Amino acid sequence: MDRSEDKMSEIQYLQERQHIIDVSRYLHEIGLLVRTWGNISSRVDDDHFLITPSGIMYEDLTPEMIVLVNRHDFSYEGDFKPSSELMVHAAAYKVRKDAEFIVHTHQVFASCAGTLGMKKIFSYFEDDDVTIPVAPYALPGTRQLADSVARTLKKYKDVNGIIMSNHGTLCLGSTSKEAIYEAVMMETACNNFLTDVCKMDVTQGVEEMFSSHLENGEIIYNVKDTPERVKTIHKQIYGKRPDVKFIIHNKSDAIMTVSRRANHMRPLLDDFAQLIGTSVKIPSNEGEIYNNIRKNVNVVFAPNDGAYCMGGSLEDAEAVAMVLDKGCIAYMSVMRNGEGHYLSMFDCIKMNRNYRKNYSKLADTVREN
Ligand SMILES: [Zn+2]
Repeated sequence: MDRSEDKMSEIQYLQERQHIIDVSRYLHEIGLLVRTWGNISSRVDDDHFLITPSGIMYEDLTPEMIVLVNRHDFSYEGDFKPSSELMVHAAAYKVRKDAEFIVHTHQVFASCAGTLGMKKIFSYFEDDDVTIPVAPYALPGTRQLADSVARTLKKYKDVNGIIMSNHGTLCLGSTSKEAIYEAVMMETACNNFLTDVCKMDVTQGVEEMFSSHLENGEIIYNVKDTPERVKTIHKQIYGKRPDVKFIIHNKSDAIMTVSRRANHMRPLLDDFAQLIGTSVKIPSNEGEIYNNIRKNVNVVFAPNDGAYCMGGSLEDAEAVAMVLDKGCIAYMSVMRNGEGHYLSMFDCIKMNRNYRKNYSKLADTVREN
């Protein structure tokens, strides 16, 4: 390769890197990607692809952070670590020669449809019938997950998107536009499915009510007239959990329903096991709330009054609030469907522990910089 060709490919890489960022910002804007979750890649040639880095917010991405990865041995160039799901992307590019662009998301309705234990979701989008295969569960970041995705894509050669059981989606296309279309279509189709089959009628999101944060050891309430009984719960949480600095009181549709009807939640989604905890109890009366404030469980339910979502930072508490809402939509879907696929306690404990370990490591590096 002479120098000018070298230069040419550098410019192309730069454009493609920027394109990946543009797509991630768009998916972030329409709510299909949040925080650092999910990842996007683009095929460069037979042996390489570009992929978003691990652990960086979509808002903060710059072109040099997008990582060039070798599809065969997963070696990569530069200082940024590729997304931990690079094996899934590599496997998809291997079995789907037509794939030039891949989007992996943890989008709400598709992820929830993927907890029902079904092999395929039959639904519709506008006037068209839609079939979405579900790849069997495996722990995130493992070879087994990459193999499961590869087997499913091989089996259903004519689809551009699949659900990864209890986790998220994988959408591909010969262009980024096709992959984006697939993710958007899948979210609507899965929402239709949950509405029709599981009789789900909730709006997704965070409905904030009585939140607070700590400032120089003092509790600052967001709402001036926070009732005394709610203040007592905040005081109990800060007292029992010295790591918590922010509490978001979330009264979303799904969380309200669960706080009224359920008495126990086990994780149905990977991010629930990682960020919230491996098992969450829902008290039947206010007196029981205090006993449910536990180390490494980042929510406390109040009977018929939503849940308190905790974090060491505002971003962490917001993440917990979002993941809990999605977890409650999944829980309701499974209850109304009559069956679902729960994560094993062993897998949950493993994920929760890994997440806390990696997260504190990441927080340390941020502090060092
Ligand atoms: Zn993922």
